[in-house]
Amino acid sequence: MTSRTGPQIDLHAHSTASDGTLSPAELVRAAADAGLDVVAITDHDTTAGWAPAVAALPPGLRLVRGAELSCRWFGADPPVPLHLLAYLFDPAHPELVAELARVRAAREARGERIVDLLRADGVDISWSEILTAAGGGTVGRPHIAQALIRAGLVASTSEAFGPDWLGERYRLPKEDIDVFHAVRLVRAAGGVPVFAHPRASRRGRVVPDELIVELAAAGLAGLEADHEDHSPEERQHVRALAADLGLLVTGSSDFHGTHKTVRLGAFTTHPEAYERIVAEASGVTGIASG
Ligand code: AMP
Ligand code: FE
Ligand code: FE
Ligand code: ZN
Repeated sequence: MTSRTGPQIDLHAHSTASDGTLSPAELVRAAADAGLDVVAITDHDTTAGWAPAVAALPPGLRLVRGAELSCRWFGADPPVPLHLLAYLFDPAHPELVAELARVRAAREARGERIVDLLRADGVDISWSEILTAAGGGTVGRPHIAQALIRAGLVASTSEAFGPDWLGERYRLPKEDIDVFHAVRLVRAAGGVPVFAHPRASRRGRVVPDELIVELAAAGLAGLEADHEDHSPEERQHVRALAADLGLLVTGSSDFHGTHKTVRLGAFTTHPEAYERIVAEASGVTGIASG
C-alpha cells in the first residue's frame, strides 16, 4: 500500500497521448501537486507524450518515460489480452517503433468496427467524432465510452464497460503483440518490462502463474502488485509469486484523469524497486528531472 514516508513513486499513469484526460504537461504538474517525487508516463502503445512531459517537468519531479504495451498470450483459447509496462526503453528502436505503430493502427480499425456494430443496432455515434475527440492520441474503448455518454446512452465510463456495452456485447479483440515477443523486444530496446495488474480478475480472464514463470525466464523484470483492480488477496498472491521468482514488485495508480476515479499516488512503489528498474535500463539515458 501507499507508504507515507520516503519518496512517493507512482509508476503508471496515462495522458491524452492515449486514454487519459490530462495532457502530458498537465499530468506532470498534477503529479507534483499530488506530492509525488517520481511519476511514470505510460500511455498505451505510444511514446508521444514523453517530449511534452519532459518539457513541462516541474522542479524536483522525476519522470520515468514508459509505455503500456497491448499484449496477448496465445497459450489459451481464445488468447488472453494483457498489459505490459515498459520503462526507459529506446523510443527509436526500429522494431519496437514498428510494433507500436501496428498496434495503434489495429486499435483504430477495431474501434471503427465497434462503432459500426453499435450503429447497426441504431446507436447514433460517429467514428470521426471519436477520432477527433481522441486528439491524435492512441484510441481506446474509453473514447468510445465518452461518445456513449455524450449520446446520453450511459451515465458513466464504468457503465459503458458493462456487459451490455463495451465490456461484452460490443467488445472486439485487437491485434496485440505476443507477450513473449514484447518482453524480448523491450529488453532488446534497453527497457525494463513489468506485467501490469497481472491478477485483475475483475477485468476479465487472468493468466496462470505458470505463464508468469515462463515470462520471468524470458526477461520479465517485475509484477505490479498494488493496483486498484487487485483485491487484497490478489495483491498478496502477486507479491508472493514475485518473491519466489526474484521479480521486483511495483504499486501504481494507473491514473486516467476523469476516465477513472483513482487519484495519482493512490498506490506507490518502494524506492528499492524503482532503483532496480533504473539500474536495469539502458534505453533512454537517465531519468528526466525538473
Ligand atoms: P482498450 O485498450 O481499448 O481495450 O480499452 C481498455 C482501457 O479501458 C483500459 O486501459 C482502461 O483505461 C479502460 N477500462 C477498462 N475497463 C474499464 C472499466 N471497467 N471502467 C473504466 N475504464 C475501463
Ligand atoms: Fe487505459
Ligand atoms: Fe492496463
Ligand atoms: Zn494503464
